[in-house]
Amino acid sequence: MKAVYISEHGGVDKLLYGNRPDPTPGRGEVVLRVRASALNHLDLGFRANPGRGAEGLPRILGCELAGEIAQVGSGVTGLSVGDRVLVDNRVKCGTCQPCLTGQDQYCLHQLRIGVDLDGGHAEYCKVPAINAYHFRPSMSFEEAAAIPLAFHTAWHCLMVRGQLQPWETILIQAGGSGVGSAGIQIAKRIGARVITTAGTDDKLAKAREMGADEGINYRNTPEFSSRVRELTEGKGVDMVLDVVGAAVWEQNLLSLRVDGRLVITGATSGSQIGMNLSILQGRPLTLMGSGGRSRRSFGEMMSVINRGELHGVVGRVFPLQEVGKAHEVMESRDFFGKLVVRGPQ
Ligand SMILES: [Zn+2]
Repeated sequence: MKAVYISEHGGVDKLLYGNRPDPTPGRGEVVLRVRASALNHLDLGFRANPGRGAEGLPRILGCELAGEIAQVGSGVTGLSVGDRVLVDNRVKCGTCQPCLTGQDQYCLHQLRIGVDLDGGHAEYCKVPAINAYHFRPSMSFEEAAAIPLAFHTAWHCLMVRGQLQPWETILIQAGGSGVGSAGIQIAKRIGARVITTAGTDDKLAKAREMGADEGINYRNTPEFSSRVRELTEGKGVDMVLDVVGAAVWEQNLLSLRVDGRLVITGATSGSQIGMNLSILQGRPLTLMGSGGRSRRSFGEMMSVINRGELHGVVGRVFPLQEVGKAHEVMESRDFFGKLVVRGPQ
């Protein structure tokens, strides 16, 4: 089958388009005919650096995917050939202590489709049946491929970690990003007030179309916390969702109200910061990481997705042969929502 894969880590030139062996499903697995896959910063990071997925090359990239089931392995129930599904890319062992005690987000042996296992930039992809979720008929494959990582990350940060409430105001950084655009929708869905940032007025206009109440252009207003305070009658926001990291660290802290909370799920601008620890005591603030996500929260999120209340945000669509171009666009940040790769027709 045709696939986009890497045999060594490095720049965009390390992405190879060529033939890889067709997958066959083992017990408890299904093979999807991939109709669409989507890009994440994780793809760029893994392409450039081995991380902890170093042993598995060559590796087909693509952490998010949607398609039709083409083959069903033994022992699989509830899924049939032809079913339209999207895929949770976190594969859990099901037998370790965290898995057995309902804490599978902390599975000791979890693997990531598209990093530790072959991913969705291919004609076919093998996944555990438990990772495949039906999606509503009105949703296209492109939209479905834009859901799994971006929405589950935002859902986990807002609903599970941060426990955002309807009466609260949240600052969502990078409202034009996959996680940011998902976070805006989820926060509005539960009734919270949303302030978002983006680097262009065009992105802010799109973020408002999706429901954001206020937008701040961080290029025009790098000290955006003062604008956040104006918009919150001097108090600051209850919660910040950040994917940007070091570049906005100080402004994040200054944007939070007393007893506010910061949830971090990415650090695309850098991860090293200097920090005045007294701010934790004096304000006092709660700083939260995000990390692993559970099957339970993925299933809960899919219930809302399948009611048609949240929508994948497809920014641009590329053919499979142009994954390298999509990586370049992602690095340029000149897009809104998700970069999607269409499977071979
Ligand atoms: Zn486990």
